[in-house]
Amino acid sequence: MRQKEEGRKKQTAISSTGSILERHFSVTLFDMVQKIVRLSEAVINQIAAGEVVEGPSSVVKELIENSLDAKASRISIAIQGGGLLSIEIEDDGSGMNREDAVLCLERHATSKIRTADDLQALSTMGFRGEALAAISSVSHFELKTSDGKIGTAIRSEGGKIESILPCARNRGTTISIRSLFYNTPARKKFQKSPSASVAQVVKTVETIALAHPEVAFTLHSGAQAHLKLEPQDQKGRIEAILGPFPHEIKTLRGMGFLSAPQDAKTHRRNQFLFINRRPVFSPLISRAVQAGYGTRLNENSHPPFVLFLEIPSDEVDVNVHPQKKEVRLSEESSLFREIEKAVSESFETPLFEKPIFFTPPPTFSLAEDPFSVLPAFPKFQTTELPFEIEDRPLAVFGKFLLMESFILVDLSGAHARVLFEEMKTGVQEKQALLCPLEIEIDHPETESALETIGVECRLIGPSRLAIDALPSSIDPSQFFSFFSTWNETKKLENTAVRYCRNLKKKYSLDEAFLLWRRLQKCKDSLYDPLGKKIWTQMERSDFEQILER
Ligand code: ADP
Ligand code: MG
Repeated sequence: MRQKEEGRKKQTAISSTGSILERHFSVTLFDMVQKIVRLSEAVINQIAAGEVVEGPSSVVKELIENSLDAKASRISIAIQGGGLLSIEIEDDGSGMNREDAVLCLERHATSKIRTADDLQALSTMGFRGEALAAISSVSHFELKTSDGKIGTAIRSEGGKIESILPCARNRGTTISIRSLFYNTPARKKFQKSPSASVAQVVKTVETIALAHPEVAFTLHSGAQAHLKLEPQDQKGRIEAILGPFPHEIKTLRGMGFLSAPQDAKTHRRNQFLFINRRPVFSPLISRAVQAGYGTRLNENSHPPFVLFLEIPSDEVDVNVHPQKKEVRLSEESSLFREIEKAVSESFETPLFEKPIFFTPPPTFSLAEDPFSVLPAFPKFQTTELPFEIEDRPLAVFGKFLLMESFILVDLSGAHARVLFEEMKTGVQEKQALLCPLEIEIDHPETESALETIGVECRLIGPSRLAIDALPSSIDPSQFFSFFSTWNETKKLENTAVRYCRNLKKKYSLDEAFLLWRRLQKCKDSLYDPLGKKIWTQMERSDFEQILER
């Protein structure tokens, strides 16, 4: 855009110098002026098309954004041949009257701004009035639109209007684009393969649909249906497109949905950031989210997320790169901390926000049941018991505990989490050992390092330590195995997970239940220190799935 403006300035500068010189040297300059010709509107539009329209997916993006700006509630898109053969988009938005329909194909024709000041308070997606002019200049273009009163059909070829006719149409707009780039063969040559192009169109539509859950979208490519989305709430829309995102965050400037740590990927393709509902890309914010996951992620893994921020437009610079939509933000460091904190806290919510209640036993009274010989029970009127009942443990299978509420707990993971937090916080119930254990050490610093993780010890020789007390979740008979794991791994997360996984231990029902209770006091009770999920509550649908109902 800037380049174009500079180009235009240069052109005016040349022609005005030209006119001064012309007056003085009219003959000699004649040849020079001849070299400069004013480009026709069609060529200008085709050049602009090079910027606005990279390929089918950017056409689809511009057209959907127009439909959204027209307040459509349903948008259907169909493409053929990856979009190069045809793109058709239909909406039920405000539509246009005849005059606007004719004007909308002209360059810099827009209903969205009137003066440069309007740019500040812009709430619509498009505003430059370039997209339709550019797209129609490189295609066979057809527009059918109606504002609910009168319908208009316009056909153009390479940007030249061929016909304007009245037509029947409900309120809304249909745009058909055929043979994209038919008159710019160089651009056509550099297009992706049809299948890569379809993938890019699908991604484009999905991305926009993520931020507009109140709008229904369908997308077809040839006979294949790629998307069919009804209006839904934000969480439902994200799950329909990307699958489950179990963690939710709220920050001062936005909200978002995060994947479980174990679903992290080696790429960032499933990270979606929207600022003021526009898809953008920000390495800074990706890093803030990653920082919030902390040790739950392995190095170089990227958690899928969908984040929506609302930031005053004067604090956002979206045009760092016009195609990639990378953003620069003022207040970057405070935003970084805000997001990191919100992400980190989302893993620290207590296990149950509400206590679990059981369905009360059937109630009866002697008066209603003359045959009953049972003593009268207190009669509950509510559907919840008047007091909290603990969820009870049902069974232990190997290293799994099943609770009465169908919560299934991985005991190794729970144990690792409890041990990790014990070692890390230093606030712990310690178990004093009746007979101190003795170990050989390589470095004298081992003593103080063990002390910091809650192992009470003292030097009893140049390379010998006596252990007097241990964190309560280390089994004294397994201390040597703990010590060698700790010595090898150096990191507390790995020590805790590896020690508990290798522990040859049969948990009794009581022990398992105790562990489950202790887990609930942990800061992060859902994941083990390396980000694996510790427990899940099985639902009816899970049973149905197991039994293939
Ligand atoms: P911009 O969106 O930047 O204004 P476009 O070239 O994309 O420029 O569109 C030009 C104008 O055409 C818009 O300002 C709008 O008034 C009208 N328009 C385009 N698409 C639609 C549509 N689907 N429904 C109603 N009006 C539309
Ligand atoms: Mg537009």
